[in-house]
Amino acid sequence: MKHVRMMVAALAAGSAATVMAGLYGDTPDALHAWAVHDMNRPVPKKITAEPGQPPSDAIVLFDGTSLDNWESTKGEPTKWRLVDGALESVKGAGYIRTKQSFGDCQLHIEWAAPTRVEGQGQGRGNSGVFLMGSYEIQVLDSYETEVLPDGSNKNPNYADGQAASVYAENPPMVNACRKPGEWQTYDIVFHQPIWEGETLKWPGSVTVFHNGVLVQDHWEMEGLTTHCRRRPLKPHANKLPLQLQDHGNPVRFRNIWLREIPSRYANTTHGGPAANEADVMALRRETAAKLYAKANPADPNKAAALHRLLEVISYEKTEPRINEIKTIANAYLAELGGMDKQKLEGRKGEIIGLRNAFNVLIRNKVLPENCTLRAGLQKIINEQGFEKKR
Ligand code: MG
Repeated sequence: MKHVRMMVAALAAGSAATVMAGLYGDTPDALHAWAVHDMNRPVPKKITAEPGQPPSDAIVLFDGTSLDNWESTKGEPTKWRLVDGALESVKGAGYIRTKQSFGDCQLHIEWAAPTRVEGQGQGRGNSGVFLMGSYEIQVLDSYETEVLPDGSNKNPNYADGQAASVYAENPPMVNACRKPGEWQTYDIVFHQPIWEGETLKWPGSVTVFHNGVLVQDHWEMEGLTTHCRRRPLKPHANKLPLQLQDHGNPVRFRNIWLREIPSRYANTTHGGPAANEADVMALRRETAAKLYAKANPADPNKAAALHRLLEVISYEKTEPRINEIKTIANAYLAELGGMDKQKLEGRKGEIIGLRNAFNVLIRNKVLPENCTLRAGLQKIINEQGFEKKR
């Protein structure tokens, strides 16, 4: 709320609302192409996200009506069955995969272990969600996989293989499993490993919510999923199909949708693990050029012209812009110097707003502490008692 009030105050202090787009939060720096609270920064694309519906930008992979988006891992029609609006694994039919390939994603998938409970441990309601065909989030009937107070366990299993485990790596933080036959949800955020040639830069990560409960918290992958062994990560294509496992049990799936998301390494212009000073400066230069094209150094409203130019130098400080600012600011101070008290009072908001803009640039070392133009404005503010407490 505070920042809204400050923004409103900043807007009110400016001579024109459009003038105050910048110079509010800390300015761009070597690793950030945008200022804090930057009004020039592009706003996110609008989507819709209605209750119980896939978001409007999701790719619906299974809506209960057809298997059109799926095939066998040999690229043939799958033998998995469409049963009561669900996709059911068929013993011996093999894994299925999406026809489309994906990389980093948000995945929503619902599953149900067979109502008829058969088998034990890994043989009870086993399937799996294989991200990029390589990293398994286990699907398993783990409803009774716990040690009871009397020390017994109805369905003993290894922890790194129960439902919502990153199979063979990391058990879920808690067991959020529902009863066999009941629908359960996985909401998964997946980032693939980042390689530079054969060198692993970052192992990627997976975050899983099981029935809305966080069970994998940004787990960094240790390897490619396999049974019994630790198989190291290896470079692979940037996009690969999503696979579902046939482990011989009739596990059902429904409401499968996926949103492709950018790699955490895709954003090179705003902090983050991949911030790149050259990319940051290129974007800052581009923004400065756009703003300068809209600036009007000859504007008879010198305060407005100054605001625009000060904003420009917050993105890219160059000698010609500094010289323009000096010329206009000196003319502006001379203009103010010829005004009587009453006229100056009428300019109070404008003068304070401009001084504040200089303050932001000085605070961020874009302009020096001893900036004479800022000092000139401050002198008027002091002399006129603009900031005196009443
Ligand atoms: Mg499995």
